[in-house]
Amino acid sequence: MRQSKFYIPTLREVPADAEAKSHQLLVRAGFIRQSVSGVYSFLPLGRRVLRKLETIIREEMDGIGSQEVLMPALQPSELWEESGRWRTYGPELMRLNDRHDRTFALGATHEELITSLLRDEVKSYKRLPMVLYQIQGKFRDEKRPRFGLLRGREFIMKDAYSFDMDEDGLDQNYDEIFKAYQNVFKRCGLDFRAVIADSGAMGGKDTHEFMVLAEIGEDTIAYSNESDYAANVEMAPVKISYTKKEEEQKDLSKVHTPDRKTIKDVADYLNVSSEDCIKSLLWMVDDRPVLVLSRGDHEINDIKVKNVMDAETVELATEEQTKEILGCETGYIGPIDVPESVTVIADYAVTSVVNGVCGANEREMHFENVNPERDFTVDRYEDLRFIQEGDPSPDGQGTIVFARGIEVGHVFKLGTRYSEALGATILDKNGKSSPIVMGSYGIGVSRTMAAVVEQLHDENGILWPTSLAPFDAHLICVNPKNASQSEKAEALYNDLKSQGFDVLYDDRKERAGVKFTDADLIGLPIQIIVGKRADEGIVEVKERKTGEKEEMSIDEVNAFLRTFFSNR
Ligand code: ATP
Ligand code: MG
Repeated sequence: MRQSKFYIPTLREVPADAEAKSHQLLVRAGFIRQSVSGVYSFLPLGRRVLRKLETIIREEMDGIGSQEVLMPALQPSELWEESGRWRTYGPELMRLNDRHDRTFALGATHEELITSLLRDEVKSYKRLPMVLYQIQGKFRDEKRPRFGLLRGREFIMKDAYSFDMDEDGLDQNYDEIFKAYQNVFKRCGLDFRAVIADSGAMGGKDTHEFMVLAEIGEDTIAYSNESDYAANVEMAPVKISYTKKEEEQKDLSKVHTPDRKTIKDVADYLNVSSEDCIKSLLWMVDDRPVLVLSRGDHEINDIKVKNVMDAETVELATEEQTKEILGCETGYIGPIDVPESVTVIADYAVTSVVNGVCGANEREMHFENVNPERDFTVDRYEDLRFIQEGDPSPDGQGTIVFARGIEVGHVFKLGTRYSEALGATILDKNGKSSPIVMGSYGIGVSRTMAAVVEQLHDENGILWPTSLAPFDAHLICVNPKNASQSEKAEALYNDLKSQGFDVLYDDRKERAGVKFTDADLIGLPIQIIVGKRADEGIVEVKERKTGEKEEMSIDEVNAFLRTFFSNR
């Protein structure tokens, strides 16, 4: 492709609103342009990268026998009513009316639509198992669209759905798709982890997220420094058996703690460590008050509270609720002498406290020398806290380290949540009817493109992996006005093209500096520079990623490229 005829509007300035490196570089290098917040066009270079990524995904999905479909973005609201999500999905679902005042949603995801597609037609077990997928635009009115392609309001997703007779079938499909996803992200050159995730509102059981390690990531991953254990920090269990401090129990006493509300303030004031403090938080769990205790050096994880209480909703009690239930403001509440109506649960670590400190349910007062079980009772001890860096890994191997991650993929065992709601049933061998067992599997295609740039760039621009680069090589004619350079470059361009290489040929009448800057910014894996030594038949070949340069005869370029690309 001749660059003089190819639309690559590069920019020298960093766009003012672009925080993420991937956002800055994709805009500056002429891959994408914003339309409105969270909505982007893909320019020719960007389209090429997307196409390559889509091809990798198709190869891996087709490779496990999955079949591609294309479903509409425009979905009737009735389907979402049937699943209940018209109500529960909230403002993220884009809703609209047609001229007859019929209501629709723009697809945020396609569980409803695909279930409705199969329910009337797939009736016999003989048709299963089946996996269908599509690559298509999704719409979500995100509260905070940001970081360019990383969190858009219209974005490209590959979504897949598996259909099985039973859980065993689902497990098998899940494993296969899991492996296909690993292959996709490996082929994209990404450093990623598959992490255990929260099944949350989707209502399924097993679920994993594929996280690309990057500082800009919005999720925290807890992983082992020795094994391949990795979980979303929200999900990692804490597996420690705590032992009590070796210390004689002292007499309980009440102390005045003027204006000392936080654990740190109280611990400093009473000259104890935060480990010796018992933190008490009052939560409303499905509208019932639950006092949740943890050690002062730990944080309570609301997802764990929700799970152990088997609750729909958990929320911290308001100041008013706290006063009404415990007769005291937050900051001074504690587990001693709480009303019967309040359930008390505690994180296991609380059992290690001897002669600790806790709130006295009285303004500006705390207790000292508090001993669990002697001074207060706990209804249940559970694992309730967030895992921390340095904790032992839950699989017993190594210790936990944190990293930030970008979620690029999500695999999910749905079970019969949607098939039951929408009435997609199937007859087994004995003619017995049961709901189809489903799984749902997403890859953020446009987000993955940005995640690659987030990981693979330097101060001069993007470092595309060969698998996704919009072209294989950038052929740069330094001075097209020089007849020899221009002739040699043209000939090499035609030769490489005929050998099957995809070459971006910078034949523009621009200054050399502009061409080199643009080439580094765009980031094709190899640059071939036809310059001063063109007369002698010598060109310079630069590997973009390492910056290594090598002079070689024009005749050698072909073989060089062949070796370079076959090693990748
Ligand atoms: P997030 O927690 O980041 O909002 P999600 O849990 O809502 O993601 P899913 O519903 O599982 O995401 O969607 C499948 C995949 O689609 C995600 O793994 C992610 O890669 C991608 N994705 C989700 N929301 C967006 C978005 N707003 N912009 C770009 N990609 C997205
Ligand atoms: Mg989301």
